[in-house]
Amino acid sequence: MTRIFNFAAGPSAMPLPVLEQAASEMTDWHGVGYSILEMSHRSKEFMGIYRETVEMLRELYGIPEEYEVMFVQGGGHLQFAMIPLNFAVGGIGNYAVDGVWSRKAFNEAQKIGEAAEVACTELRAPRQDELAVTDGAAYLYYCSNETVNGIRYWYRPEVNVPLIADMSSDFLSQPVDISKYGLIFAGAQKNFGPAGLTVVIARKDLLGRAESTTPTMLDYQTYANFESMYNTPPTFAIYISHLVCKWLLAEGGVKEMERRSILKSQKIYDAIDNSDGFYYNNIEKRSRSRMNVVFNLKNEELNQLFIEEALQKGLANIKGHRIVGGMRASLYNAVSVEAAEALADYMKAFAERHS
Ligand code: PMP
Repeated sequence: MTRIFNFAAGPSAMPLPVLEQAASEMTDWHGVGYSILEMSHRSKEFMGIYRETVEMLRELYGIPEEYEVMFVQGGGHLQFAMIPLNFAVGGIGNYAVDGVWSRKAFNEAQKIGEAAEVACTELRAPRQDELAVTDGAAYLYYCSNETVNGIRYWYRPEVNVPLIADMSSDFLSQPVDISKYGLIFAGAQKNFGPAGLTVVIARKDLLGRAESTTPTMLDYQTYANFESMYNTPPTFAIYISHLVCKWLLAEGGVKEMERRSILKSQKIYDAIDNSDGFYYNNIEKRSRSRMNVVFNLKNEELNQLFIEEALQKGLANIKGHRIVGGMRASLYNAVSVEAAEALADYMKAFAERHS
């Protein structure tokens, strides 16, 4: 077997035990004589997998009873539309913009209803005192971790309207007090499972407020009423996420994931900061992402060589997003401390050879 260290931003590294278990159950799931791919979503076996996944999520985050856990398709992008459709009715969606994904969410909300940009920052997350919501604000929306820009909120905003967060790229990577939120969502393809599944956790009393003309599948209430099975859900993705939840619980849960992510990201930031400017990262220090470490080489002519030699050493997918260029190492839960160490060592050796 040749598995290499994968720093992809999403879809991204999966825990090896999850892949191995899925492979071993691929043709016959638990002795039923067929695979999970061939199983009805309404069978008692699949309903068991589905309900256990929700229960494990509740355990991992300590999700209160007053919150609904829903599985939606359409990725983060569909959430950009569903949030204003369900929550901005008669009010103004307020957006804090500090990177690519919060910008896209704001743009989409403007197409759908009234939306206001309450903060706009570059290379850092806005501070609490910059987040003054407008009169008639329906909610405050922010992205807890900007995957492309490598920016994270180091605090949870406090506002007197429902708080909505895109946690796609830092989902299950640290404890979150769900009771402080109106809604959080996350595309699965980073820390939770395969692409095609999006988790939405929302306060039940906020649901059911969409206009009556809202299409059935764009109304959160539909998902709440039918245990996310009004239509056929992405069964295989849910099954893999079930295995990921089990793995997370066995590894020590979100507190342990937070401990590891601090350690992993620190290794890469140290390699950057101790390189005498060979590598640089312009993000304000406290806003530096622990999930997506973005950096540049001072000598951009070395970019291609840096990527090629990394791959030869078994360090894959470190090229930055095309919008910002440079490099990006994504350090999601399934990326080991050993992988981060290997990348940091490589960075030091490369800098020594080319300084
Ligand atoms: N939000 C964040 C923070 C993301 O990183 C991404 C995708 N990388 C999205 C939203 C969009 O997700 P999708 O491609 O699933 O629509």
